[in-house]
Amino acid sequence: MSFIVKKRLVILGSTGSIGQNTLEVAAMHPDRFSVAALSGARNIELIARQIERFSPDMAVVMDAAGAMELENRLSSGTRPKILYGPEGLAAAASMPDADMVVSAIVGGAGLLPTFAAVSAGKDIALANKETLVMAGDLVMKTASDTGARILPVDSEHSAIFQCLSGNRSQDVAKIILTASGGPFLRMEAASFDAITPADALAHPVWNMGNKISIDSATLMNKGLEVIEAMHLFDVKPEKIEVLVHPQSIVHSMVVFADGAVMAQLGVPDMKGAIGHALSYPKRLFVGLTAPDFAAIGSLTFEKPDLDRFPCLSLAYNAARTGGTAPCVLNAANEVAVNAFLKQSIKFTAIPALIEDTLAEHHVVSNPGMDEILEADRWARNHAESLVTRFGG
Ligand code: NAD
Ligand code: MG
Repeated sequence: MSFIVKKRLVILGSTGSIGQNTLEVAAMHPDRFSVAALSGARNIELIARQIERFSPDMAVVMDAAGAMELENRLSSGTRPKILYGPEGLAAAASMPDADMVVSAIVGGAGLLPTFAAVSAGKDIALANKETLVMAGDLVMKTASDTGARILPVDSEHSAIFQCLSGNRSQDVAKIILTASGGPFLRMEAASFDAITPADALAHPVWNMGNKISIDSATLMNKGLEVIEAMHLFDVKPEKIEVLVHPQSIVHSMVVFADGAVMAQLGVPDMKGAIGHALSYPKRLFVGLTAPDFAAIGSLTFEKPDLDRFPCLSLAYNAARTGGTAPCVLNAANEVAVNAFLKQSIKFTAIPALIEDTLAEHHVVSNPGMDEILEADRWARNHAESLVTRFGG
């Protein structure tokens, strides 16, 4: 006779695209997963529905007003403890009886809660790549001290993790990160100035949150992923190559010393990588089947165009510089993406604003958390001051 002990999940960012997909996966396997805590920023109606369905012990929202609204919305059955703000997120991330924390908040707001989970030695299913971009050395060092396992949810990194399995890290010659190329893969540079937020949000393959959709359109997403891969797999940026693969079937590849290449393939649906991280090393059915290769016909690969997509070069440069440079890259990018979404700056001003912010930054090497947070604050302020200039 055997029985399975349920894995208790804390889902940070449960109201987002990754968060909702994670709950779908958990709901497919109620014998394996239960929900210890949920968090969402401002969509109180959705988190209320998630609470009614998954009965977590704790729920965290953005602020006191949201917490009050949530209290009022919930029916009178069993209620979770309702917390808010950064302290609430840290409490959820380090809940004593939780087995795994799914880090699915978007942007720099994910750093401290993820770091709290890593410090508490939890298993982490990591979607929030910004955590490793901002503080990769510190987070990986802390994880090795506390025994926290970091399992990638980003589809490329999940693929690389799977390709590395059973191989020795010293035999890795190169990592090839694939990129869909985003909605403007074939657009002339001359037309980039006229790109609207709606154009940029219409991703050809993946259906994702707003920030990562814009990052995919500028290729900054791939730049952030290069930095994420450096930290997850302890490789130098020179050993990471980006290839555009519009079909998004090959999720990434690893080249070994003998010239052999391992690739992981699958349909483009985040439930694959989420299921892998949640149940590793066991594989779960999450409603997906293998790609229909005969119907797809051909898989194509090409080099990215760094002239039209300068964000990728900016990220490689920041990766090589190290220290606080990637943190500043990330912060300036968040400010630029928000400004573009509000139509305060043009699409082409995104890389310009990031480049100017990086140029003004005094890099601190081997930063601790205080220095990382200070660099983040400085970069956001600096980038905000440029929005007015670039927007004029
Ligand atoms: P999303 O915008 O759909 O959801 C973000 C979540 O974070 C929501 O629950 C939101 O309430 C919460 N949130 C936002 N700001 C917050 C704040 N200041 N404090 C606390 N919570 C806050 O984003 P997403 O597309 O699900 O992406 C989440 C993360 O996963 C990002 O880091 C992204 O890069 C990464 N990722 C996403 C995908 C995807 O397919 N969506 C794929 C790979 C990696
Ligand atoms: Mg990805």
